[in-house]
Amino acid sequence: MIVAERIAQVRSQVREARADGHTVRLVPTMGALHEGHLSLIRTARTDGGYVVVSLFVNPTQFGPGEDLRRYPRPIQEDLAACEAEGVDLVFHPPVDEMYPEEPRTTVHVAGLTEGLCGAHRPGHFDGVCTVVTKLLGIVAPDAAYFGEKDAQQLAVVRRMVADLNLPVRILACPLVRDPDRLATSTRNAYLGKEERARALALSRAVLEAGGRIRAGQRDASAVARRVRKDLEAAPGVEPQYVAVVDPDTLQDLDTIEDQVLVAAAVLVGQTRLIDNVLLRNLAPAGEA
Ligand code: AMP
Repeated sequence: MIVAERIAQVRSQVREARADGHTVRLVPTMGALHEGHLSLIRTARTDGGYVVVSLFVNPTQFGPGEDLRRYPRPIQEDLAACEAEGVDLVFHPPVDEMYPEEPRTTVHVAGLTEGLCGAHRPGHFDGVCTVVTKLLGIVAPDAAYFGEKDAQQLAVVRRMVADLNLPVRILACPLVRDPDRLATSTRNAYLGKEERARALALSRAVLEAGGRIRAGQRDASAVARRVRKDLEAAPGVEPQYVAVVDPDTLQDLDTIEDQVLVAAAVLVGQTRLIDNVLLRNLAPAGEA
């Protein structure tokens, strides 16, 4: 496994891999790898070709007062995990390799970034879109892998790639949960034992909403109301938003038809957690 800190090295390795006839696959991450990340890496590995994982805690996607400084960076463990998964190249750039000077260019996806997490994290998706565009420019992969855990990010990145005609396939991987069903996340490490128990109200609320929709509930505002009520009733949990939207446009739904994203964010103490249920190819109401 090659570990590259420099863009030029990534480019030359990828050029060689391509010359050898390999398809190039990128899994962008902020490191502190867990089972969610590993599922993306394993999917990329199974799809075959040359697998690149980026480990970069991107400062421009953190707002003031967010957890940029304390975000975990266990680089040795991450490299060992990548090695064990058969990753070909890890790109682990220092901040000044990615941002050698104050950037004057930002990629902004309008509309899709305004609601849900975007409403609570101003500038976050501009940071994400800009760094993803840079990583796609550096690695030039045929395919890039994103988790449905960050369902809004996935919708935003897909739209960005379509709008900018970027020559890459965006592939989605299902949300991975811990054994207690909390969505696996680096930020779960911030939770104390009691907070973690309280946080389970989030996964329970969205999973139950998914169950009700599968059972035939098609009234989107009734679904949203119930999730909000469940979260408001949960001790130590402060809901930020509940959204019942189309997973591609992120527009609020009135009646749920063939696809729906039920997404929510809460604060548990100082820790912000997100979770969602994404349902596609739903049977028409009455045929559940
Ligand atoms: P991050 O390191 O948090 O930026 O995440 C890197 C990638 O891993 C993103 O595409 C995330 O959506 C994905 N990811 C993170 N947690 C999970 C999870 N629990 N299940 C599936 N994908 C995840």
